[in-house]
Formats: sequence, C-alpha cells, structure tokens
Amino acid sequence: MTDHSTAGSITVLAGPTAVGKGTVSTFVRENYPEVSLSVSATTRAPRPGEVDGVHYHFLSHEQFDEHIANGAFLEWATVHGVNKYGTLKHTVEEAAAAGQKVLLEIDLQGARQVREALPQAHFVFLAPPSWEELVKRLVGRGTESEEEQHRRLETAKLELAAEPEFDQTIVNEHVEAAASELVTSMGITPRTAHTGA
Ligand code: 5GP
Repeated sequence: MTDHSTAGSITVLAGPTAVGKGTVSTFVRENYPEVSLSVSATTRAPRPGEVDGVHYHFLSHEQFDEHIANGAFLEWATVHGVNKYGTLKHTVEEAAAAGQKVLLEIDLQGARQVREALPQAHFVFLAPPSWEELVKRLVGRGTESEEEQHRRLETAKLELAAEPEFDQTIVNEHVEAAASELVTSMGITPRTAHTGA
C-alpha cells in the first residue's frame, strides 16, 4: 500500500461515537453506487438484517487474529473495548485498482493508522452539530446500557478533540446533506444540492 495514486482515490470517514457515521455511509451506499464502500471485517455478531460480505465480513476471533498475523489488514482496532474491526488491504487495493472511489467508514484509531500508511488519502471528520445533540443521539438510539453510554460519552470527548487532525470537517445536521458534502469531496456530483450544513 505504498502506491500514492491508490491513496488519492481513498476517503476515510471518522468521527465520534453516535455522530451518525453508519447512517451517512449507509445513505451513500444506497444512493451513490459509484462509491465503493469498503466492507470491513469484524468479530462482532451480525445484527438483524446484516448480510455477510455486504455490511461486514463476519469473522471469528481466530480468523481475525490469523489475518493480523498474516499482515492482511491496512488497519485494525478494538472498538469500544470489545470487538475487533479492520480494513483488509486487498479490499481497498482491488477497488482502487479498478478506478473506483473508495470510502472507509472506520473509527479514529483506524483513521490514524491509515494516515500513517496512506498519508495522501483524504480524511474527513464527521462532527455533531453540538455536544448536546451527540448526547441526545447516543442516549436516544437506546441500544446501549446506561453504563455503556457513559463509557462511550467519555470516549466521544477524546474523539472530538481529534478534529484538527483531519483534512475536512462535515457537520452531520441532516444525513442527506452530510452525504452530499462527503461525495462532493470525493469528486462526485451530489444528486441533491447540499445546504452546506
Ligand atoms: P458497528 O458495530 O456499530 O457497526 O461499528 C462500531 C464502530 O466500528 C464504528 O465506530 C465504526 O466506525 C467502527 N468500524 C467499522 N469498521 C471498521 C474498520 O474496518 N476499522 C476500524 N478501525 N473501525 C471500524
């Protein structure tokens, strides 16, 4: 992964927990087929409706560790202290070699590793409109226990402080507008005019 012409077609989207990275990337997947959304590997179990090979490559801990040992990952990280998530080098290389614009939706630790490996990739920070809104989104989605919510909010504070490390910030006020801004940064004309929000 030292080919910088490859790096030039790669965009990394990161941001704090609960900011809506998954929602924005799902919107891009469904509305912008010209974007190749990198399918990550993970040790977490599939959620209802998630398809192996589409949303993630669901691996056992043993399989994941084997890929680590083989140097198969461009980046990987343990996210929220539980499961491992990683981007397989060949996923990114094949898409970029085919001339596709590749989007990686990964956590901050992963984004920092990609910056080391591919400094010429484009790094986008997805930010909440405000801290209050981030808390509302995290509590509102109701998928985590109170203790877990507290832990993630502590992590979110550290994650928000990383914004200056990125090339560009997009505020996720409305999903469609954020997605428009994101694809615009990838050189794609958005279907609907974004508001600049
Ligand atoms: P979820 O389990 O909700 O799908 O994702 C949890 C977190 O894992 C999100 O913050 C997401 O950005 C992150 N994530 C997903 N795929 C990857 C990956 O390949 N590498 C890294 N470092 N983080 C990832």
